[in-house]
Amino acid sequence: MTVELIHVTKYYSNKKAVDDVNLTIGDNEFFVILGPSGSGKTTLLRIVAGLIEPDEGEVRIGGRRMNGVPPFERNVAMVFQNYALYPHMTVYDNIALNMKIRKLKKSEIDRRVKEVAARLHIDDLLDRRPSQLSGGQAQRVALARAMVRNPSVYLLDEPLSNLDAKLRVEMRAEIKRFLGSVGVPVIYVTHDQSEAMTLGTRVAVMNAGRIIQVGSPLELYERPSNVFVAGFVGNPPMNVIPLSALNGVAPPPGYERGEVAIGIRPTDLAIGSGPGTSVRATISLIEVLGDEAVIHASAGSIQLTIKKELREVAGLRVGDVVAIGIDPAKAHWFRSSDGTRIEVT
Ligand code: ADP
Repeated sequence: MTVELIHVTKYYSNKKAVDDVNLTIGDNEFFVILGPSGSGKTTLLRIVAGLIEPDEGEVRIGGRRMNGVPPFERNVAMVFQNYALYPHMTVYDNIALNMKIRKLKKSEIDRRVKEVAARLHIDDLLDRRPSQLSGGQAQRVALARAMVRNPSVYLLDEPLSNLDAKLRVEMRAEIKRFLGSVGVPVIYVTHDQSEAMTLGTRVAVMNAGRIIQVGSPLELYERPSNVFVAGFVGNPPMNVIPLSALNGVAPPPGYERGEVAIGIRPTDLAIGSGPGTSVRATISLIEVLGDEAVIHASAGSIQLTIKKELREVAGLRVGDVVAIGIDPAKAHWFRSSDGTRIEVT
């Protein structure tokens, strides 16, 4: 099964919520749609599910045109943020319902419900009703219900948003183990770049209804196609500085200083002088994140973010003036006019 979106556009009033999206998602792909709130991710997923019809363009599943085909005929398993569980049924029956409809044997249903419940740590909740569950528990029941089906496509919309940080990381691994090798496309929507990077075989970055870039997590990180992707993928975001504000670094051939911005990952900046040039900057904030630290520093109008191992920066204090080394070999380059990437060979 493949999922194809061909020139898909959806308007709300006069505004394009989804703007000319073209994607082909193959079997065995764990495909993540990543973007900020309001970028059109949920609308796009609902168009695949058949809950919303596009105004323009075509949706195909397994080569078959789906426009006008109702959701239940598309055989998609959905987990949405507002996991709609049946309130009058127990957790067990919610998970088992689809298998009962398909008339699976009772013993087989029982085995599958218990297996998935154990994996998602909800095996002690099987007799409860949805109203007796926390948000995070209900979310896992919705996941379990989708996992026991044999759909043509899995669609997940922020399925871990109600979980606390520890459980989210644990469930992320469980989703990857379970859905990473089911042999049908998985489309997973999130605004969380770390979730996208750890889960996706490919990631599409969306902004304002448009797909900005599609690639493997590594491709997006190493070769962001514009400043939006550069700023959205990676934490903390890449430093992007107009070259006119920085002395000592030459623009790439064919460009004037005023036409380009230089991008450097926080982990690629040196504290103290290194290869390349350096600027003197005053430390304004030190954030300790376990074994790493993020240092914020300002040099005139330039704000810099640097990420280092904690022990490398243990002696630094707010107010210290330090040299920040910028190595042009680590630079990304962008056109100031439209933010697009400049390839430097
Ligand atoms: P995301 O999932 O990325 O947060 P959505 O797909 O929910 O984005 O929304 C995309 C845009 O469409 C937003 O500007 C949102 O306000 C708008 N939108 C979504 N649903 C509706 C609706 N039913 N009516 C009008 N506008 C909507």
